[in-house]
Amino acid sequence: MALARTAYVDGRWVDQAQHFEVRDPFDRAVIAEVTDSSDELVDAAVDAAARAFPAWRTRPGPERGKLLGQLAQRMLADERRLAELCTRENGKPTAEAAAEVRYAASFLTWFAGEAERIYGETIPATHPGQRLTVVREPVGPCALITPWNFPYAMLTRKLGAALAAGCTLVAKPAEQTPLGALALAELCHEVGIPAGVVNVVPSADGARTGSRLIGAPQIRKVSFTGSTAVGRLILRSCADDIKRVSLELGGNAPFVVFGDADLEAALRGAMVAKFRNTGQSCVAANRFILEAPIADAFTQALVAAVGKLKVGRGSDDGVDVGPVIDDASVAKLGKLVGDAIARGARLLHGAPPAGTSHVVAPIVLAGVTPDMAIWREEIFGPVVTLRTAADEADAIAQANDTDAGLVAYFYTRDGARQARVAEALEAGMIGINEGLVSTAQAPFGGVKHSGLGREGSRHGIEDYTNLKYMATRG
Ligand code: NAP
Repeated sequence: MALARTAYVDGRWVDQAQHFEVRDPFDRAVIAEVTDSSDELVDAAVDAAARAFPAWRTRPGPERGKLLGQLAQRMLADERRLAELCTRENGKPTAEAAAEVRYAASFLTWFAGEAERIYGETIPATHPGQRLTVVREPVGPCALITPWNFPYAMLTRKLGAALAAGCTLVAKPAEQTPLGALALAELCHEVGIPAGVVNVVPSADGARTGSRLIGAPQIRKVSFTGSTAVGRLILRSCADDIKRVSLELGGNAPFVVFGDADLEAALRGAMVAKFRNTGQSCVAANRFILEAPIADAFTQALVAAVGKLKVGRGSDDGVDVGPVIDDASVAKLGKLVGDAIARGARLLHGAPPAGTSHVVAPIVLAGVTPDMAIWREEIFGPVVTLRTAADEADAIAQANDTDAGLVAYFYTRDGARQARVAEALEAGMIGINEGLVSTAQAPFGGVKHSGLGREGSRHGIEDYTNLKYMATRG
C-alpha cells in the first residue's frame, strides 16, 4: 500500500485536498501519495518560520548544536529504514543509500560543532577609548530548495548550517523525492526542534511553489541546489528584494589521466566518480581526457570494469547501478548518445537506451569531439565519454573548455605537475589522484556557471550569517 505523507508546517503535519504520487524509479510503482502544498500553505510555512526566528536566533549556539547532534544520532540510528526509503524513491543501490544517510548525518554533526564556533572579531580602534567589534548574526528565515539525486544530503548540508547559524527555514524537496525530507522532518520533530524552525512543503510543481517561497518578503536567503537553468531564474527572482542567494548548480567534470598516472588508482577513481548514484551526481566525471601514451591501456581497463557492473533494482543484492530517475532522463540519455554516434563517436560498450525502461546499462563512447552535445552538457547518467590529449597543455585546455566549474579530477604521480595542473584547472574543487572529493569538513561549491557560495566546512555557515560591525565610544 502506498504511504500517505503530508506537509510539515509549524510543528504539525498538514494534509490538503491536492496530492501527488511518488513512484519507484525502477518499476514506476506508486510508493506514496504526498500532499501537494498550496500557495496558502507555503505562506503559512513562511509565516511559521518568521515567527519562530526571534526565539531560535537567541537560543545559545551550543544548545542549537546539541539538537543538531541529536538529529545526526537519530539519523544514524535509523540508517537502515532511511536507506530503504531512499532506494525506493531515488532508485540508488541500498549500499549507496546507506552511505548517503551517513554522509547526510555527517553535515549535521559537523554543523553541531560549528554552532559553538560562530566567532566575531575585535578590531584595533582609530581613537582612544573606542572599541570596534564585529559579530555574526543569522540572516533570517531561509528557503531551501533541493534536487532528487541526494534527497538527504543536499538537505542536511543546508539545514545543518542554517540551524547552527540561528536561521529558521522552509524546505522544498524535489517532486520525485519528497519522502526523505519528510522523514527528516519527523526526526526534527522527535528530537525537539521547536515548531516553525523547520518546515517542509512538498509540491508537484517546483516552479510554482519555488516562486511563491522565494518571493515571500520574510524570506531573507535562498539556498538552491539543482540545475544551472533554474539557478539562473532564482538569482533573477532574488534581485528585487536583494535576497542572499547560494547556488549549487550543475557540473561538467573533466577526469584527466596523465601518462605517468597509477592506472589502477585512476580506474578505481573513475568508477566512483562516474557511476556513483548511476552517474546522476553534480560531481560525476562527465568527460574523460586520456593522455595519448596511456589512452589505449586505460580504455581497455575501463571497458572491462564497466562490463562487470551489475545493473538493476537498487534493493537487489550486488547491484552497482540502479535505474535513472525518470522518463525524461532516459529520453535525454538516448538523445545525447544517439547524437554522438551519428556524429562519429564509437560505441565501445553498451547500447543507446531504447524502450521505456529506466534501467540504462552503462555505455562507453570513444572518439567524442567537443562539438558533440554529450561533451558540452551534463550527462547525468551512466555514460562514459572518452577523448585523448596530446600533452599536458592540451589536457588542461580541453578540461577548461566548458561553462561549468564545479570539480575537476586528474591522475598523475608527478608532484610538480600536481601543483601546476591544480592551479590551472578552472573549478571550485579538485581531485588529485582522488575520485571522491565531497566531505562535510571541506568547502563544496563551484565557479563559472556551477554556482555561488560554499556548503559544508567552516565556510558553509558564513552564507547563513551577516556581519554586524559596532563602533563604541566611552
Ligand atoms: P532542477 O530541475 O533544477 O530542480 C531542483 C529543485 O528546484 C527541485 O526541488 C525543483 O522542484 C525546483 N524547481 C524547479 N523549477 C523551479 C523554479 N522555477 N523555481 C524554484 N524552484 C524550482 O534540478 P534537478 O533535475 O532536480 O537536479 C539535477 C541538477 O542538480 C543537476 O544539474 C545537478 O548537477 C544539480 N546538482 C548540483 C549539486 C551541487 O552541489 N552543485 C548537487 C546535486 C545536484 P521540482 O522537482 O518540483 O521541479
